[in-house]
Amino acid sequence: MNIINPATEELIAEIAQDAKDAIEQKFHQAKNAQPSWALKPLAERLKCIQVFYELLEQNKHALAKTLSDEVGKPLNQAINEINGARKRIKFFLDNSAHYLADEILYQEEGLIEKLSHEPLGVVANISAWNYPYLVGVNVFIPALLAGNAVMYKPSEYAALVGKNIHDLLLKSGIPAEVFQLIIGGREAGEQLLDLPLDGYFFTGSYRTGKYIYERVAQKMVPCQLELGGKDPMYITDDVADIAKAAEAAMEGAFYNNGQSCCAVERIYVHEHIYPAFVEAFVKETLALKLGLPSEEGTFLGPLTRKEQISVLEQQVSDALNKGGKLLTGGKRTGEKGYYFQPTVVTDANHDMLLMREESFGPVIGIQKVANDDEAVRLMKDTEYGLTAAVYTSNRDRAEAILKQMDTGSAYWNCCDRVSAHLPWSGRKHSGIGATLSYLGIRAFTKPKAYHLRG
Ligand code: NAD
Repeated sequence: MNIINPATEELIAEIAQDAKDAIEQKFHQAKNAQPSWALKPLAERLKCIQVFYELLEQNKHALAKTLSDEVGKPLNQAINEINGARKRIKFFLDNSAHYLADEILYQEEGLIEKLSHEPLGVVANISAWNYPYLVGVNVFIPALLAGNAVMYKPSEYAALVGKNIHDLLLKSGIPAEVFQLIIGGREAGEQLLDLPLDGYFFTGSYRTGKYIYERVAQKMVPCQLELGGKDPMYITDDVADIAKAAEAAMEGAFYNNGQSCCAVERIYVHEHIYPAFVEAFVKETLALKLGLPSEEGTFLGPLTRKEQISVLEQQVSDALNKGGKLLTGGKRTGEKGYYFQPTVVTDANHDMLLMREESFGPVIGIQKVANDDEAVRLMKDTEYGLTAAVYTSNRDRAEAILKQMDTGSAYWNCCDRVSAHLPWSGRKHSGIGATLSYLGIRAFTKPKAYHLRG
């Protein structure tokens, strides 16, 4: 597999893909090793993850450099990602013992009813490239802590990062048999689907997720999907500070080049403040530095995947054909690398692909609304259900709107935010199941109900 730096289009590495028989062999190793891993006291598994947590910090700069070179993320955003991953690991370190412990749910004279949380067995972690550390740790850390073996397939666009994660986990004391690295793309993923694994945890696009869900259904094992989004933000007419709201919206839309599942993907603005908000938003956008990921101050690097350029071009031209106004950006830029200008389209409407299909890039549509009812109707007009955000000075107004959203996360005066304490979950085409929080610890277990008489 050729690994290309998306900023320079240079070949940075060649790594071997796992062939079918190698994947089968890794599965058998994992299957044989998992029961003794599960029998170890949780304290021993926690100890390994604690070492991993420390090694991430000690090697942060080198790891961030590989992440930045491979996916094109600005170096400081790569460091932020590793820091963020460590925060999530800390949550699992602090909370797993509590949520994995046996629970007595009922007792009376001569009877104890006890719930215990057993590992699923060998689980697949088929992962995405946009935040390979963050989306990875959501799965493999709680899976390993609960006593599972993991077949970890990083995205083919983040294979070097996957290799670094694998090396570091093994260095932390995780037995090689219980954390198996699978290098490859769609074919390697398909081979995991062919094997009799005990659970499938997927992060990626709706299209692949739906396919995986259908394939796994036959097996009758847990299958969790963290998929895409078309996340709306609504700026009401009573925001205290329009410039601050515009800055937050810009960051939500363009951080990581818009390649976030919970990026702000469409903005609705109350007509009373529409001109002021648009002006502030464009001002923020024009101030962004686009450049080499390694350069100080770069906010926008290249897109990770070349193919996304044509998706964005199509969305922009479709929007302009349907009455959109291009205020800035709109095209590819730079002689080398997969760069796309940060793009703002106003006068957007729901006939446009830009307001309906995941952009996963630095383009945003802004639409004017007359009132909260219109905003709610438009925010809900989507197949996706990951997050929704409202900016207003009035919490009751925000909650009244957010209650109507069919989304896994709801934000008041914030956006593009994930917390380890809360479940991360999508609805409809954004996925099924939850990671993070206590739900994301228990997701890697199956309940056993003990009825104990005596
Ligand atoms: P993708 O669906 O193209 O690939 C995801 C993974 O699936 C990769 O490892 C890929 O090799 C593998 N794969 C592809 N085809 C397969 C098949 N037929 N069988 C088995 N495995 C297969 O997605 P991507 O481009 O890596 O990621 C971008 C998408 O992920 C966006 O839609 C984004 O919104 C979403 N995402 C969601 C979350 C979330 O938490 N909800 C987080 C990050 C990314």
